[in-house]
Amino acid sequence: MTHSGVVKHGYRYQFGRNTALFTHDDLLSLNARFEHTNPQHILQWAADRFGEAAAVVTSLQPTGIVTLHMMHTLGIHLPVLTLDTGHLFPETYTLIEQVEAHFNITVERIKPDVHVIEQDQSGTPLWQQDTNQCCYLHKVLPLKKALAPYDAWITGLRRDQSPSRAETDIVSWDVQRNMTKLCPLATWTEAMVWSYIKGYQLPYNTLHDKGYPSIGCMPCTQPVNGTRDLRAGRWQGTNKTECGIHL
Ligand code: SF4
Repeated sequence: MTHSGVVKHGYRYQFGRNTALFTHDDLLSLNARFEHTNPQHILQWAADRFGEAAAVVTSLQPTGIVTLHMMHTLGIHLPVLTLDTGHLFPETYTLIEQVEAHFNITVERIKPDVHVIEQDQSGTPLWQQDTNQCCYLHKVLPLKKALAPYDAWITGLRRDQSPSRAETDIVSWDVQRNMTKLCPLATWTEAMVWSYIKGYQLPYNTLHDKGYPSIGCMPCTQPVNGTRDLRAGRWQGTNKTECGIHL
């Protein structure tokens, strides 16, 4: 289990703007405590600890839907943000509205700066020229700005999603954004998530039924067949595995 970015000084180090005060040992202890508990307990802890200084960030993947349902059941009301790059599938835009209606919430669409140049003079889109720059301008930068007022963010990362996520901590210090990061469903598996969604008959992206285990922007997401890497359809044919918001 890694804790990259945690300051390992011998003295107490203040993390977070207002509500978080964690040492490296605190994080170790919280992760040990949460490793064998259920995500609802972790979400309740986050709500008690941070209140509305915590935001849920979701791309409405299955884990995000489960998270929203657990919060709904527990009566936890936290801001919910999603990155609207302008390149999402129509099915994803439909799902955002379905989720808002289902849970009676507002999902805040985080959009890129209006001045982002989407294509060059020849008409080649930015995502074709440079995926890293495209993700930076459409995801990393807008999210950094959107999360600036918060002390913690809650994400749907799971360890079984890809080799690069296998060591995901449940609670960590996000050096990139200077805030606490929580992954309440880190220990859950794909099967557990789907069993929950089907059991509660929750809305989900219909592209999952068409071979897309992980869904991002339309130009950079392909269906996959028979792979254990659930994110294999993202940026297929390149070495890129993450957009950058979780690095
Ligand atoms: S996933 Fe593709 S289209 Fe979306 S921001 Fe990244 S490079 Fe651009």
